[in-house]
Amino acid sequence: MCALLVGSSTVLVRAQETDLSFLTTRAERTGFLETTRYDELIGFLEVATAQNPRLHLTSFGYSSEGRSLPLVIFGDVSDTSPSAIRATGRVRVYIQGNIHAGEVCGKEALLMMIRDLASGRYAAWADSLVLMLAPIYNVDGNERISLMNRRRQNGPYGGMGQRPNAQGLDLNRDHMKVKSPEARSLIRLMNEYDPHVLVDLHTTNGTQHAYHITYSPPLNPNTAPEISSFLRGNMLPEITRIIQEKHGWDYYYYGNLPFRQGAEPGWYTFDHRPRFNNNYVGLRNRIAILSEAYAYASFEDRIRASLYFVEEILNYSHAHAMDVRRVVEEASAKSVVGEQLAVRSDYERSPEEVDILMGETHTIAHPFSGEMVRVRGEAQRTERMFEYGTFTATESERVPARYYVPPRAEIVREYLDIHGIEYRESSADEPLIVQSFTIDSTSVSLRIFQDIRERTVYGSYVSTEKELESGTLVVPVDQQLGRLIFYLLEPRSDDGLVNWAQMDAFIETGGEYPIYRSID
Ligand SMILES: [Zn+2]
Repeated sequence: MCALLVGSSTVLVRAQETDLSFLTTRAERTGFLETTRYDELIGFLEVATAQNPRLHLTSFGYSSEGRSLPLVIFGDVSDTSPSAIRATGRVRVYIQGNIHAGEVCGKEALLMMIRDLASGRYAAWADSLVLMLAPIYNVDGNERISLMNRRRQNGPYGGMGQRPNAQGLDLNRDHMKVKSPEARSLIRLMNEYDPHVLVDLHTTNGTQHAYHITYSPPLNPNTAPEISSFLRGNMLPEITRIIQEKHGWDYYYYGNLPFRQGAEPGWYTFDHRPRFNNNYVGLRNRIAILSEAYAYASFEDRIRASLYFVEEILNYSHAHAMDVRRVVEEASAKSVVGEQLAVRSDYERSPEEVDILMGETHTIAHPFSGEMVRVRGEAQRTERMFEYGTFTATESERVPARYYVPPRAEIVREYLDIHGIEYRESSADEPLIVQSFTIDSTSVSLRIFQDIRERTVYGSYVSTEKELESGTLVVPVDQQLGRLIFYLLEPRSDDGLVNWAQMDAFIETGGEYPIYRSID
């Protein structure tokens, strides 16, 4: 909308929207039988971004097969550089689709959103927001189309991409160990553009419920309370209410009935570890939302459900930009030094039972593969059950003031740099009382997961005087990424460098963990 002065009175007129109906996604052109391929997606973005000076097309990195990762910027920016975007002072929202390339509804929804932005719809969002939209994060996985990928999912029947990237890695388990070029690219984007809000679009597997979308805030118990309470107390309930009012569809927190036989019935969320996108973003003190469109709804409905969610997340961020900025700034400014934080966690049961909307499905034969596909039915019923939607520490540690990384543990410096953690190098040998972790025993997982045998160490800290070698990295925990530093470097952390076998050269029973810490 723009204000026009007519004589002495102000009237509001709707800005003319450009007709972009010629610009269609492959999903739309094929009656939602197929999903958009990489090359045509790039073509779509080139045409869309040329329609509106507020839209820009750039790249935020590369896949392992060398495909560029497209990034569409929307906003009043002079160019697409991180410095230009941060200089606007607007709230920065990053939304990605296709981290799992069989879960393609987020990619299609983001293309439709980009077309709407190009047409001039949502022009008002530029008042308080800059958007960064990455419709196709797992680009290589997207091109490996098969009718056998996600074979129970209700379309697209012309096939979809595969879950992992071209290296066989699950990009939604790669935020801590960072073994893929895609994850490096994404974390670089977080360091440089520093979005306040990050959204990750998926499709569910599993339980037959009646929600079109299930969503999740960050789940690690070490997440800043400001972030969790803003999402759970304000943003997500408000968005849920608006979508129910506008579209009549129910959205709720992600969950499943228990997969394990004999487990207590309940609504169980997934995992607290920061290898997952939303949990990682939360430990960086940023607002994260995981979106899971319901796998048994039609492909078209899943795209719409994802699009409605994106639209309302952006409406909310636009209307509450000051709150979003305040929450992120408060979470970032607070030091966690001296707090007792989790290194390992388990589900926490809700105090009261909650209402969960269960649904039902029927099966049909896939029209081309003949595989049995589940299709959402309209019937639904409310069931009362406990919710296991949050996590609590089963083991915790006091957060130290500093970690000390000796020069021989070179790989740690690489990780500090990748994650954007600040440190200084000590120039002279400094005798110091530190805490050193003595390893009583260690074990590795029998299962190879993501090419790695995950490791656990057992032991305890003792205070000792050490001569710190020249070149030791001193990592102060009182910085914006303090929560992440703690989770990465604590030896007992269930998602740190020890867990991901990155410290194996230093781990032996009776030995000493090479990173020291000081409490004060
Ligand atoms: Zn997924």
